[in-house]
This record gives sequence, structure tokens and C-alpha cells, in this order.
Amino acid sequence: MSDKELYEKLTIKSEPVYKIVDSDEMTAVSDFSQGYKAFLNNAKTEREATSLSEKLAIEAGFSKLDSFDTLKPGDKVYVINRNKNILLAVIGTEDIENGLNLVGAHIDAPRLDLKQNPLYEKNSMAFLKTHYYGGIKKYQWTAIPLSLHGVVHKTDGEMINIVIGEDENDPVFTITDLLPHLADDQMKKPMYQAVEGEALRILFGGYGIGDDEVSENVKFNILKLLNDKYGIDENSFFTAEIEIVPAFKASDVGLDRAFIGSYAQDDRVCAYTALQAVLEVENPYKTAVCLLIDKEEIGSMGNTGMKSAFFRYTVAEIAQKCGGCDLIKLNRILTNTQCLSADVGAAVDPTYDSVTEPGNSAYAGKGLLITKYTGARGKSGSSDANAEFVGKVVKLFNDSKVVWQTGELGKVDGGGGGTIAQYVANLNIDVIDCGVPILSMHSPFEISAKTDVYMAYKGYKAFYLSK
Ligand code: MN
Ligand code: MN
Repeated sequence: MSDKELYEKLTIKSEPVYKIVDSDEMTAVSDFSQGYKAFLNNAKTEREATSLSEKLAIEAGFSKLDSFDTLKPGDKVYVINRNKNILLAVIGTEDIENGLNLVGAHIDAPRLDLKQNPLYEKNSMAFLKTHYYGGIKKYQWTAIPLSLHGVVHKTDGEMINIVIGEDENDPVFTITDLLPHLADDQMKKPMYQAVEGEALRILFGGYGIGDDEVSENVKFNILKLLNDKYGIDENSFFTAEIEIVPAFKASDVGLDRAFIGSYAQDDRVCAYTALQAVLEVENPYKTAVCLLIDKEEIGSMGNTGMKSAFFRYTVAEIAQKCGGCDLIKLNRILTNTQCLSADVGAAVDPTYDSVTEPGNSAYAGKGLLITKYTGARGKSGSSDANAEFVGKVVKLFNDSKVVWQTGELGKVDGGGGGTIAQYVANLNIDVIDCGVPILSMHSPFEISAKTDVYMAYKGYKAFYLSK
């Protein structure tokens, strides 16, 4: 072996996927992105992602767990929790006590939620007040078309779904921003103060009705329009969950279409790939579980988030139908479970590469990103995967020809972030973060590389099927 060959053998390769895979696989990369874009366009909220996942699962032969008295290897089941998160499982041939192969992704995304009493009128214009959800750069949400998605739970018990701004005949909404001519003071402020939280107000109407005895004619008209169409009134905003999201669709980005641009790829890119992979799993060795969870962006809180007992309870229900379950057995199942925490990471942005460390960062187009630890300020808030498990995952991906890379979220002390991994790890499960690197993360138009999206799907599928 020449020195050059030995050098090649001993060092880490860092090459884009397109240089590594053949043209057939590049065709598969392109084909896969079509289904992904459709998912993004039809699942802009956690509720929509849940119901679309259910629809795709039913088409793939999955049934509600409730419909089974007992489960046998090969059975495909799903459970929905409060219309906001879903767990899908394909029962394995191995005793469930020996653990699950779990891939967990989140289906909530940064957005603007309406306040509980949002509607007001000023200067003959109607607006909706919002409270943002998750970490956003607020200035990015002004002066773009926005759509409204959500549910209203009427006091008579009826649930109404509302989507406005997605159909090409629909109106859209927007948050106005100050013209540069008058923005001298605004432009001198630090970026995080230039657009304040209370300034994120949705332009919602401008025509009034009624005579002078009605003090707020435009607001009155808006309420009348809502009442005529949905039978709701101003109190209904309180018994509702309405989210404001970008109105534009997912697009190919770049003349060569190498990238996808869309709202909410964090983390629907991992949700879709994890889902698509589990839908194709037949007769796995271990029980394969795909968990699409809510509330990651605000700390995994609440009964639809990863800190909820939903996952544990549902595993117990499945085990009960696989031959019985008690606390000891549930503990053994969890202890023997291995998990990919499927969440996005930061891709190096060549325009802002000073925040990342070149040897330990992910690059768009270089494959599935494995992150051993996340966290901030000395790995705080990280689960830090065990070397034994990292080794197992790396071997699996190498054997399965999954192109992968590793990276941290930025330089040491440069910032940081967490995922659901730490809460999965609290259940005594082996877990590692493994997802798609993203540019413009948490912006209204996030960017992924199609090759990375495909490698995520390929990696998750190999993992579900592994021993
Ligand atoms: Mn995420
Ligand atoms: Mn996020």
C-alpha cells in the first residue's frame, strides 16, 4: 500500500453525497424529494402532520392499536395522542422485552400563535395579536405572506378546522414592517429588539360595516365574516388553537435543484423520512417504532411532548397485547430499546462560517448527520451518546451504505441547543441525535439538501430493520 493509499484509509473523508453514490441513487434522491415536498405543503402544523401521517399509515396497512386484542409479528399499528402526536409500530419477530428500534422526530415548528384575545381594530384596520412559539428571529416574519391554520372547539362541542391562505384563491395575511425611509431609529437597534414580540401583529382586515352606533366597524365586519362562515364569535379565539405560518409552498432551490426550501423542515424533514421508512418496514426483527412528537421547540413540555408519559404508556399497551406487560417488563423493554433522536442540525453556512468549527460541523449535501452530544456551555443539556451505541450505529450505516457525517452545533461556547434525546435517555434508552443538516434553521424558509434528506430516510430504514 502506498503512503497515499494508507493516508486515504486512515483519514476521515468529507465528500458530498453526489460524488459517492451512483446515478440510480441520485434518481432515487430526486424522486424521494417529491413526496417530501407534498408532505411539507400538507402538514404545516403538528395537527396536520398527525392527521396526514395517519392517512399515509392507513394507506400502508396500519390500523389503530385499539382495534387489536393481541398483536403478532408483522402487525402494523398506530396510536394518536390528542390529535397532536402519533406513534407507529411494526411488531417484530423478537420478544418485545429485548427492546424496540425507535426513531423519534418532532412535528411542531417555530410559528406565531394567536393570543387568547387577539382581535382588535386601529385606524380602520383589523389586526390579530400573536405570541410567538419557539426560537425565531422576529424580523424574518414581517413582510411575507402568512396563512392561518388551526382548530376552534365550539362550546357546543363541535370542532372546526380552519385553513386560510393555502389555496391560490384564498387571501393571505402579513405583518407590516417599517419603511426604510422612516426606520433610522429601528435600524440602530440590536437585531433582537428591532422587531419586538408585541409588534408581530397580523393584518386581518380593512372594510367596515354597520352604522356609527358600532364603534369598531372593521372588527365588527371581521367577526360577522367569521360568524357567517364558521358560526364563531370573539370568545371562540379562547377555545381555539390557531397558528400563523408562512403561506408559501416548498420549492426546489438552485438551478440544479440540489436543495429544498420550505417552512418547518425542522423537524418535518426527519419526521417525514422516519415515517416513510417505517411505513415500508415489513417483518422487522425488533419492534420498529416511529414516534412523531409535539412541543420540542418549547422544551418538550406538555402532555403531547417528549416529557409526557404518552410514549411509556403506549409501549406498555403494545407490550400488553404482545403477551402481557408489568412494570418490570416495561422497564426491560425501555432499557433494551435503542433510539435515533431524529432532529435537524446546523449546516455550515459559507456566508457565516465563523460560528462553526470546520472539522466538527455538518455540511449540506454531505449526508446524514450524527451528533454524539448537543447542549451548550460545556455540554449542558445533552445526553451524550455512549461510545458503544455510537459504534453500533456507525457500523450499521457503513454496512448499509448510508452516507453520514458528524458535527456539533457551532463552536464551543458559540451557543447551542437541545433535542428530545435527553428525555429519551431519561427512560434509560440508548439514544443518539441523527438528522438532516439545515441552513437558515428556524426561519420561514429553511433549506435542506435533497441528498441528505434521502440519506436520512435510508439510515432510519436500516435502523428499524437492524438487530
Ligand atoms: Mn428540531
Ligand atoms: Mn428547532
